[in-house]
Amino acid sequence: MKSWAPLGLLAGLLALLLWLGGQGAAAPVAAAPQASAVPAASGQPERVFVRLSAGTERERAEAQAEEADAEPEMELAVYLAQEDRLSVMGLEDFVRHAVAGEMPASFAPEALKAQAVAARSYALWKSTLFGGGGCSQRAGADVCTDSGHCMAYADESSLRQSWGEDYQENWAAVCRAVEETEGLVCAYDGEPIQALFHAVSGGRTEDAVAVFQNALPYLTSVESQGEEGSAEYRAELFFSGAELAQRLNAAFPGAGLDPAKLPQQLELLSRTDSGRVEELRLGARTATGRQLRQALGLNSTNFSLSFEDGGVRIQTLGYGHGVGMSQVGANAMAQEGADFAQILTHYYQGVSIVPAASLLGD
Ligand SMILES: [Zn+2]
Repeated sequence: MKSWAPLGLLAGLLALLLWLGGQGAAAPVAAAPQASAVPAASGQPERVFVRLSAGTERERAEAQAEEADAEPEMELAVYLAQEDRLSVMGLEDFVRHAVAGEMPASFAPEALKAQAVAARSYALWKSTLFGGGGCSQRAGADVCTDSGHCMAYADESSLRQSWGEDYQENWAAVCRAVEETEGLVCAYDGEPIQALFHAVSGGRTEDAVAVFQNALPYLTSVESQGEEGSAEYRAELFFSGAELAQRLNAAFPGAGLDPAKLPQQLELLSRTDSGRVEELRLGARTATGRQLRQALGLNSTNFSLSFEDGGVRIQTLGYGHGVGMSQVGANAMAQEGADFAQILTHYYQGVSIVPAASLLGD
């Protein structure tokens, strides 16, 4: 909207100048010798010019007043990882593409709104604007579009490809969620929060300290109901003894795993309060649940092992690190009638939802 008003103004002025230019070429010829002809010839353009000039002044004043009223939109320096370039863009524009990249557009409107606020909060928490350290992948970037590092970001061409004929409808749903929460963030202690989120918690989210060794009062473990229907709620993998021993010996040198002795060599040592594996023994070594998750590509660290048919069956619950908002849980809450604020204050305990601009002070 903002960019169209000055453009329209410019186009109008340009048209007028061109038109006056065209008139101007004929005017000197008629004006000098015949005084009586001057008003007739130049009167019309004069009047038009005066009227237009007055309109232009008014429009300019109105535009200035409007600009003084409206908060200038915050901008983010975004490292577009896939294109390997830095782009400065409006916060809301970034949030639209982040929501589109992070959550299925078919989710309930209030879940999409919760996702928009979470994405906006996380991006501003990282941003230098709010004293964050920015993205460590690229100097000068507030945030990057590497989903494994900062946040997923789906550009128009990838969305057109993945959404196909649903593109218009899906994009409209995403834009609505972003617009209806415009500028809002979750805040704690006067700062945007590190609004981590994940796909499926498996019934209970994880405390941040268990995953990131960094306790945050708003990232504690909470129940997450209604996820059971999700395809990623439960999963299992089966490895032959030989394959598992080989992969784990490669990932954990010195473990000395023997395919025939896995039931004696693999042992879960501890779980966190939310039920996720904290530590396990792998032969002569120990590993964290997160290390095992990474080595084997497990959906989560909430897993159990069973030894059968000469191999090992690994069952997992949930998908992702489990900290913060469960996206599937958020959708379940929305379907039960919760609004985005209720969803956010459930998954991020103790936060308030405020305009980001109000946190900047004067
Ligand atoms: Zn990053």
